[in-house]
Amino acid sequence: MAQAHFSSSSDFVREIIEEHMKTNRFQGRVATRFPPEPNGYLHIGHAKSVCLNFGIAAQYGGTCNLRMDDTDPSGESLEYVESIINDVRWLGFDWEDRLFYASDYFEQLYQCAVRLIKNGNAYVCSLSADEIRERRGTLTEPGKESPYRNRSNEENLHLFERMRAGEFEDGTHVLRAKIDMASPNITMRDPVLYRIKRATHYRTGGQWRIYPMYDFAHCLSDSIEKITHSICTLEFENNRPLYDWILDQLKLDSHPRQIEFARLNLSYTVLSKRRLIELVGKGSVTGWDDPRMPTIAGMRRRGYTPDAIRNFCDRIGVAKNDSLIDMALLEHCVREDLNERAPRVLGVLRPLRLVIDNYPEDQVEEFECFNHPQNSAMGSRKVPFSRVLYIEQDDFQENPQRKFNRLGPGREVRLRYSYIIKYASMVKDEQTGEITEVHCTYDPETRNAPPPDGRKVEGVIHWVSAEHSISAEARLYDRLFQVANPLGEEGDFTKYLNPKSLERIDSCRLEPSLKGAAPGSRYQFERLGYFCVDPIDSSPGGLVLNRIVTLRDSWTKVASRENK
Ligand code: ATP
Ligand code: MG
Repeated sequence: MAQAHFSSSSDFVREIIEEHMKTNRFQGRVATRFPPEPNGYLHIGHAKSVCLNFGIAAQYGGTCNLRMDDTDPSGESLEYVESIINDVRWLGFDWEDRLFYASDYFEQLYQCAVRLIKNGNAYVCSLSADEIRERRGTLTEPGKESPYRNRSNEENLHLFERMRAGEFEDGTHVLRAKIDMASPNITMRDPVLYRIKRATHYRTGGQWRIYPMYDFAHCLSDSIEKITHSICTLEFENNRPLYDWILDQLKLDSHPRQIEFARLNLSYTVLSKRRLIELVGKGSVTGWDDPRMPTIAGMRRRGYTPDAIRNFCDRIGVAKNDSLIDMALLEHCVREDLNERAPRVLGVLRPLRLVIDNYPEDQVEEFECFNHPQNSAMGSRKVPFSRVLYIEQDDFQENPQRKFNRLGPGREVRLRYSYIIKYASMVKDEQTGEITEVHCTYDPETRNAPPPDGRKVEGVIHWVSAEHSISAEARLYDRLFQVANPLGEEGDFTKYLNPKSLERIDSCRLEPSLKGAAPGSRYQFERLGYFCVDPIDSSPGGLVLNRIVTLRDSWTKVASRENK
């Protein structure tokens, strides 16, 4: 599998690594890791971290491990592990035989804790969680020492063993590092290292009754795996002294350097597993892989490609200050990628019957259509044309607005790849007044050619042959939220969900070449956008298409090329 995806531009993380290379801090080694907790599916923010970690490893000839950071039994599961493995692989990265689980280190972590206790660097504290919080102090006031802080090493060891043995209820004791309750960094005020949690772990079952906290498990897992650069998000900056403290106290040979970078925030969505779990749980979306979700699974199902996502991650770069990235940039990367690779086809979302009065009843012609306007290697296909077509309802107006360059009374338009037609009449539903059919005539002289007398037509519209077309359902997606930063707004973030984020149209008509289109295949429907055959809900008998992204309006160019 290709692993050589890396950014060509440098950033502050790479600068730190370059410096380490010069000073030989890690003997020229670069070992990174991507450490997700399997308590949810990966989202595009995780993709940023995946691309950074694997990208750096590839760039410096190093390695990147995939590590399940599974030290908290609540909420972790095998389903999430499998989804993570699947998503990272799909993004195009390879950890070879280096898939690790922090839960495999539980015994080693426990032994490290025992060593800290023996050295007088950790103690069992029997305050409640609330009491610990109350004594923690504030940014301006120091904390208060726990009355249990000076227990003897023997007592601490004994209590810690009994915690492990499951003799105590949840919350009755914790193991804390003995650092400094007056430290200006609150993280260093005797942080909790272990807590009692008599829960079943998805891998170790009921074997453990105590579980290490992130701060304890993470630095040690990094050290065990001989990571050199432990790259994480900014909110862990205050934890770095603790990361270093633990490794220093234990005098471990492998002491990685933690580097923090700004997490990705994307507009009109939320990038937090907790919030995404809420959306899934409440049924606000159909699941983790709902195409509106910012998850890798959702984006894959929607039709985004791994290249587009990697490109996006490359473009946003890595910085030290938080920012909100515009969703439009991601969509731009998706378009750019699909523009190259997606074959063009004709399809009509909201069909309006168009009858060509002077076209022979039984005649069928086939038009040769290029699959890609610039890339002839993508070949061409034949699209049938007949007397009764479907065009887009939107492409006809009885009283055309200003700048409406399409069909209307008295007008001529070009039918893409074929003839120029001229409006003749229309049929309306007597009850509703709705236009149900448009009649026109065609000019046989204009088959794929400009009109002989040089006359100008309004524009170019797409079509399918009614008799030959196949039906499909299209799902059009809009932003999941109505506001750019739903978590920054007042009240519950789900209040800001966009009620129009999904529109289903079940009577689309597509050119026949789409019959049997493979699940997951992507097309550009001319003038309508890029679409992907839904890998879950689509079947040979019932084609379902997700609109991946709309097109920029590039139709003017097409029209001039055809010399309307
Ligand atoms: P969430 O906030 O979504 O729950 P998390 O940080 O708790 O995410 P982890 O599974 O611990 O999720 O994340 C694995 C790795 O991905 C971590 O190194 C984390 O720093 C990184 N990561 C998570 N969210 C983002 C983001 N929005 N942008 C960049 N990196 C991220
Ligand atoms: Mg986390």
